Amino acid sequence: MGQSLACSRSSDEHEFFSAVQSGDLESIECVLCADPSLLRRATIYDRLSAAHIAAANGRLEVLSMVLDRSVPPDVVNRHKQTPLMLSAMHGKIECAKKLLEAGANILMFDSLNGRTCLHHAAYYGHSDCLQAVLSAARSTPVADSWGFARFVNVRDDNGATPLHLAARQGRSDCVHILLDNGAIVSSSTGAYGFPGSTPLHLAARGGSLDCVRALLAWGADRLQRDAAGRIPYAVALKRRHGACAALLNPSSAEPMVWPSPLKFISELNPDAKALLEAALMEANREREKKILKGTRYSVPSPSRSDDGVDDDISEASDAELCSICFDQHCTIEVQDCGHQMCAACTLALCCHNKPNPTTLCLPSPACPFCRRSISRLVVAKAEKPRDDGERANSPKRRSRRSRNVSCEGSSSFKGLSSAMGSFKMGRGSGRISDNSAILDKP
Ligand SMILES: [Zn+2]
Ligand SMILES: [Zn+2]
Repeated sequence: MGQSLACSRSSDEHEFFSAVQSGDLESIECVLCADPSLLRRATIYDRLSAAHIAAANGRLEVLSMVLDRSVPPDVVNRHKQTPLMLSAMHGKIECAKKLLEAGANILMFDSLNGRTCLHHAAYYGHSDCLQAVLSAARSTPVADSWGFARFVNVRDDNGATPLHLAARQGRSDCVHILLDNGAIVSSSTGAYGFPGSTPLHLAARGGSLDCVRALLAWGADRLQRDAAGRIPYAVALKRRHGACAALLNPSSAEPMVWPSPLKFISELNPDAKALLEAALMEANREREKKILKGTRYSVPSPSRSDDGVDDDISEASDAELCSICFDQHCTIEVQDCGHQMCAACTLALCCHNKPNPTTLCLPSPACPFCRRSISRLVVAKAEKPRDDGERANSPKRRSRRSRNVSCEGSSSFKGLSSAMGSFKMGRGSGRISDNSAILDKP
């Protein structure tokens, strides 16, 4: 008798959990009518609730129904994992968003490795989920109690931050997002991987060229050692990741680094930032080509087609030629002064701002034309055809600019001009998909 009861109970449960997994809402409603308590039960072994199963399988309707019936979003399974962690592992972004809207706690730690939902999203490389959790972190009490920066760098039981995990697994999109949100590029792990590993050691171990590239561009130190005294180069060599090793070799050319002064320009317009990042990556690609020439590794060419690049050049030819390099068109405008230059020159300007040796403070970057400090960088707009007299003056203004630059001969300009030597960039580089921004405003 008892046995048959247990048996029928487990068959109801089985039917219920199968329906949740397959997203069969009708069957779920039907089973729940007979036994509403099923909503609060969990599978025998993993202690998975309906919310876990729905979240892991991307069953948004089922998950919404479960949450609407006041099941708490932070119910945990056998490993103290929440439905949000499972949706982050499996890349079910709609479910992750639903759980975040329902107030899911992003600061829960599982009992396997003490990892949060942010760790899981980074480890499995689901950049959309990672982004959603980070957005939530900016607007939830976590930001007040922990602080956003501390949350981005949250460590698991082995001392691994989300950036360590993303770098180890070769998740370059996640590496990029985490760095952009304040992940510390040089932090060492405790016991994770090889003790004392930095994200760069782990990217070298995983053999991800994209991750190595992103970390170097963010200023990761090629000479930082792990607990065994190895630099990332040695790790890449041991693992036979030849291309990574070539870039990590301390004797190969220094990569161009995303300039920290740019981080301090309070309002770096997102479109301008995209242009600058593209210019940075292009400069580093050129550098990589030189490093990898002669080795059997080659750098994959960017995926965009040559046709598109040609279009870019012809459409953007309205823009003024940069009066620093006379090679690229002006795509970046300095504010408040309104001077314009190309993305590559803007980067070079900011890269060559050396910290003040006594205070170690970075000087805020100044406009190379008028020396006023830069408060904003925006995407340059082409000059308007009917611009009362302004356009007629423009060649004069341009020559005045170049004279200013060459006469002043300030230290930053010397740095700049020497930077230009190592800075041959392909035409049309760094100016992707911003025609509208350049050419709009009738
Ligand atoms: Zn230029
Ligand atoms: Zn200026």
